[in-house]
Amino acid sequence: MEKHNLILQLLPGFNCGICGFQSCENFASALMEGQVQLNKCRVLEQNRFRENRSKLEQLIFSGMQDEMNRFIGLIDHCKADFCLNPLPGEISCRETLVSFSPLKLEKDMLIRYRPLGCPITHFARVISVDHGLADVWVTGPDRQENTNKEIIFMGVCMILSFQGIIMGKLPDVGQTVKFLPTHCMMGKVHSGVVVQLEDNRARIDCIDLKIWEHAR
Ligand code: SF4
Repeated sequence: MEKHNLILQLLPGFNCGICGFQSCENFASALMEGQVQLNKCRVLEQNRFRENRSKLEQLIFSGMQDEMNRFIGLIDHCKADFCLNPLPGEISCRETLVSFSPLKLEKDMLIRYRPLGCPITHFARVISVDHGLADVWVTGPDRQENTNKEIIFMGVCMILSFQGIIMGKLPDVGQTVKFLPTHCMMGKVHSGVVVQLEDNRARIDCIDLKIWEHAR
């Protein structure tokens, strides 16, 4: 709360909505959660706010460093370039998967599968299917949905992509990155290639648990 107030005090306080949020307070909350970049507040570009902007950058960057120090894989102790949070209002990062099962994936199905290369069985809800590829929200095993609906076993699935919000330094499109999806039950750093970047919203393809480097 204290940090939120500090950020709020340093924002222009115009509540003009240019940033896409109704008020500076909402913008401050989004900044705290890593859902938006500071440059969305165009008012801060004015000379009179230069000092405030610099203080805000320091404040946010120091927060990121604290966060980043927590983004070390629990299994191999590798350090991630950033962590990937869910898109706003969503329950996990989106995983795009391809299934080898003869069963057809459909929207709203609850499924159970083991991602290729990962020892953990995932529980998920299918949120869309496009050309045979399904986007899912991961719901378990640590937080399975409380429902009587049947959970369909899909066997081994290949995870092609993740979509989420980057918390940390933004990479370039095309860059190979190490990242920690915040819903990963193992706290395992993943690797992939950034193929889309819109502000801090990213799609990362070629997901792999092999990251070819050890930080220890
Ligand atoms: S653009 Fe800046 S001044 Fe305007 S509401 Fe957003 S944070 Fe406040």
